[in-house]
Parts: sequence; structure tokens; C-alpha cells
Amino acid sequence: MAYSEEILRRARRRLEQAKAERERENEEHLNVAYQRLPRLREIDRELRLNMVQLASIALRSEDSPSLTVAQIRDKNLELQREREWIIDAEEFEEGYLDDSPVCSKCGGSGYYGAEMCSCLKELCRQEQKKELTSLIGSGRETFDNFRLDVYPDQYDHTIGTTPRTLMTQNLRMAKAFAAGFTPGAENLLFSGMTGLGKTFLSACIARQVADRGFSVVYETAIRIFEDFERVKFGSGSEEDRSTLQKYFLCDLLIIDDLGSEMTTQFTISALYRIINTRLMENRSTIISTNLDTNAFEQWYHAQISSRVLGNYRVMIFKGQDLRRKQGGFR
Ligand SMILES: [Zn+2]
Repeated sequence: MAYSEEILRRARRRLEQAKAERERENEEHLNVAYQRLPRLREIDRELRLNMVQLASIALRSEDSPSLTVAQIRDKNLELQREREWIIDAEEFEEGYLDDSPVCSKCGGSGYYGAEMCSCLKELCRQEQKKELTSLIGSGRETFDNFRLDVYPDQYDHTIGTTPRTLMTQNLRMAKAFAAGFTPGAENLLFSGMTGLGKTFLSACIARQVADRGFSVVYETAIRIFEDFERVKFGSGSEEDRSTLQKYFLCDLLIIDDLGSEMTTQFTISALYRIINTRLMENRSTIISTNLDTNAFEQWYHAQISSRVLGNYRVMIFKGQDLRRKQGGFR
């Protein structure tokens, strides 16, 4: 669950807000109760004083404080019993004065021990989804909306079957990938002309994998290279640097539209760093490209094409440009 620093920061801020909000609410409830029941305020004051006294006895470690300690404890028990009785008699709403923290597991800190608490994980998941939505839109891209009927049903000798059959297999594979995704899942290369549903299908995968609580970064190749350039040429802020980190550390990276950028020595080396580091560290990547595998080999340095073609499952997209046909796919 390698969420980017930015996602984690946003999730933590939301948890802090929720925690503060809950504390404010608890205080408010207590004040309402104090106003209605002045005796309750007295009891709480006495209980606090007794706690202070107990603490100071423990610090001074007097010779024989046992009697005093026992007396204070007895008094406390008595006060607590009275407190409960008063509250019960007043019939507050269930849980109105229970002073519960925003998360009973971690108290609102977001961690128990070294582990991230499920409350913070859930906020990360939500923030991750929000970020993805800002990139890939609001949700039209779901597997159920993927239309197979727009792919020709005639035999195509270049693929040895019909585009529709091929795309049926691709859809099945993409669904299985998203449903079964775990960090270290296989790598996919979507290859085919523009407008055949590559972006649509990778968006479906991104959404489902993020929904299942994994960190997903979805970005066009051009944007990724721009981010690398900003950092390289020194104008990169701390934020830019953490942006680069997410390309290396996320559970699933989706690089859209590779091959449409101007290739330079710089883009080649940035791309190699991403692809190679992620392979070495067993993190899954999906690349979509308009290039076919031959063009891919020519376009990119042998070092890159051999890493990709040797380690990625290649999925060919075939058909007619669907953007013209149904005005939808990107
Ligand atoms: Zn928690």
C-alpha cells in the first residue's frame, strides 16, 4: 500500500480534522450536560482533583501512602457510581456522553503500533480515488460499459481471428487482472491504434484496483517526462520530487499514450529508470502505446524494448477507430 506522500498527507489531514471535530462534539455534549446537571460538573472536578492527588502520591512515594490511595480510590468509585446514576436518570441519547474517539482502534492517530490503522487506510483509498477521478473522469469507464459490439466481427488475417474475439479476450484478461490484482502482479502492454479502447480499458483497471485499496498512479507519458524534466533542471520543488517518487513506489503505474512524445536521450533514460526499477522491485506497470511491437522496438532503445517485450504481457488492440464510431472511446 505505497500511497504517495501527497495522498498520505491529505488522508492524515482529514483524519486530524475528524478527530478535532469529534473532540469538539464530545466537549459540547458535556457542556450541555453540565448546564442541565450542575452536580455532574462538580463530580468531574472532584474526580480530576483526585487523579492529581494520586499522581502526586505516586511521585513522592511516601512511606505508607496505601491508606490514602485506598481512600481516594474508594471515593472515586463512589463518585463514578453517582455520575452514572445521574446520567442514566437524565436519559441522554444513546452514546451522547460516552466520550468516544473518532476511531476506537487507534484513537484517531491513524496508527496502532507500526501499522497503519484501517481508518487511515480507508481515507487514503478515498483520496486516491479522488485523484484518479480528476485524471480519468467521473466513472463512465467501467467494464460493464465496454462495448464489444463496436469491434468488427470479420476475420482479420493479421491477428488470425476477428477483432471482436480478440477484444473479448482482452476484456476478460483486463477484468481478471483488476479483480485479482496484488502488488507484484504481471505487467501489461496495450498496443494498438488510437481510438481502440486502450485508455478506456486501462481507466477501468485503474478505478477497480484503486477501489480495492491499492495505490494507483495513472498518467500520460508526456506528463511523466515533464515531471522528470522539472526536477532535473533544478526548478523542481520538494513537491515535484515527491511526484517522481510516486512513479517508482505506487502498487500499479499506468503509463498512457507512450510513443506520442518526442524521444530524446533524456526521455529514454527516464523511461528506462521507471521500467527497470519497477521490474527489479516487482511492482506492476501497464503501458499503453499506439506503436505496434515492431515500431516499439525501433522507437525505443534495445535496452527498453527488450525489458518491456520480455517482461510484459502484450495485448493487441484491433478494430476501427471507435471515437468516430460511437463518439466515446479515447
Ligand atoms: Zn483508526
